[in-house]
Amino acid sequence: MTDVIVIGGGPAGLAAAISARDNGASKVVIIERDTCLGGILNQCIHNGFGLHRFKEELSGPEYASRFAGNLENIEVLTDTMVLEVTTDRVVRAVSRQHGYMELSAKAIVLAMGCRERTRGAISIPGDRPAGVYTAGAAQRYLNIEGYMVGKNAVILGSGDIGLIMARRMTLEGAKVHACVELMPYSGGLTRNIVQCLEDFDIPLYLSHTITRIHGKNRVEGVTIAKVGPDRKPIAGTEFDIECDTVLLSVGLIPENELTRGAGIPIDRRTNGAFVYENMETLSEGIFACGNVVHVHDLVDYVSAESERAGAAAAKYALGEKALGRVIAVENGEGVSYTVPQYIRPENCGKTASLFFRVRNVYRNVRITVRNGEKLVASFNREHMAPGEMESIVIPVSLMGDAEKLTVSIEEVK
Ligand SMILES: Cc1cc2nc3c(=O)[nH]c(=O)nc-3n(C[C@H](O)[C@H](O)[C@H](O)COP(=O)(O)OP(=O)(O)OC[C@H]3O[C@@H](n4cnc5c(N)ncnc54)[C@H](O)[C@@H]3O)c2cc1C
Repeated sequence: MTDVIVIGGGPAGLAAAISARDNGASKVVIIERDTCLGGILNQCIHNGFGLHRFKEELSGPEYASRFAGNLENIEVLTDTMVLEVTTDRVVRAVSRQHGYMELSAKAIVLAMGCRERTRGAISIPGDRPAGVYTAGAAQRYLNIEGYMVGKNAVILGSGDIGLIMARRMTLEGAKVHACVELMPYSGGLTRNIVQCLEDFDIPLYLSHTITRIHGKNRVEGVTIAKVGPDRKPIAGTEFDIECDTVLLSVGLIPENELTRGAGIPIDRRTNGAFVYENMETLSEGIFACGNVVHVHDLVDYVSAESERAGAAAAKYALGEKALGRVIAVENGEGVSYTVPQYIRPENCGKTASLFFRVRNVYRNVRITVRNGEKLVASFNREHMAPGEMESIVIPVSLMGDAEKLTVSIEEVK
């Protein structure tokens, strides 16, 4: 029997598998549906990866290769699609080379990443011509297949992929007329707003949306309108931009079909599995990490989180179960989700790390962690935005006998 099976060979799966091996698991297998390892990093030829971890600005493939080059004693099955996972830790997969397979594992790590929201998911009215792509699909066409997707583009959504693609299309000779964002703030990292839009004079229309796509065979233009606080278009504010391409960067959805199929509880706020402090899901012996748990902004955090998952999976496979009382972590004012959602203090060491996103843009506020009314910890922040993942580290000694901890954003008094 395999000690640890890791599903997905992106940065999360790679870090988890290496960590499982380094923490004593003797048989570790990575299963990846693509023909090579690296996940989404393979199409991210821009730099900006690994600043925290390696103190270097690497491209996506360079970052992936730091891990893919360290896989001794790890079995890799590429071109292999996992079809089903069961809670008694059987993995059913299929590949051209091996056909249908059933593998049993002592522990499983889910690292399937996420996929992009499409036009259908956000229901943009208008014609259905060619030339509407998700930003990630366009990135793949451009960076891997070598096809230019258009010459005159408008980008809907200011998530990081859209911002990166605004720059990429411009560098390849296209004119990017605008990046249009429904919310009053950008969904991407500040560094990407500066380096990908401002440096190239691409206008960012906040609180705007595309209300119609025009064109019969190919996109010919879009109608854009301002939106009110209810996010609905305001009549009379419409204007048109001629373009042949619309790129959508309107959010990512963790790829949890396998998780759901196994009956593992999913947090509707993250769209990923509920997890404990060591990234174990609520199904014993099944762990999850990376974008399949929650959408990360930086790959460095994906690797760190996945190393914890891999180490915990190895421990579980070697017979060491994580036990102890459970503290639920709840979202207070201004917090849209936290990961983990549950902490077992006896399994934490001296501190527990919490990752979360905020609902709005905040300046000079404090993050509080409370046990009922009692303040457990607080952290001042000069600036926070929904596009940037936040993290705090809470000393376990301060948690006392709490059954529930609430994380909130409060004004500094
Ligand atoms: C366009 C883009 C630009 C980015 N830019 C930056 C940046 O500049 N800096 C930065 O730090 N981060 C950046 N990121 C974020 C970073 O790349 C991601 O956080 C990271 O790739 C997530 O890793 P992952 O392993 O969870 O997911 P992925 O990289 O998506 O890997 C998941 C893997 O699982 C496989 N898989 C899924 N389902 C199955 C199945 N059923 N069977 C077998 N295999 C399966 C997939 O094929 C894939 O290889 C960017 C992300 C994107 C999308």
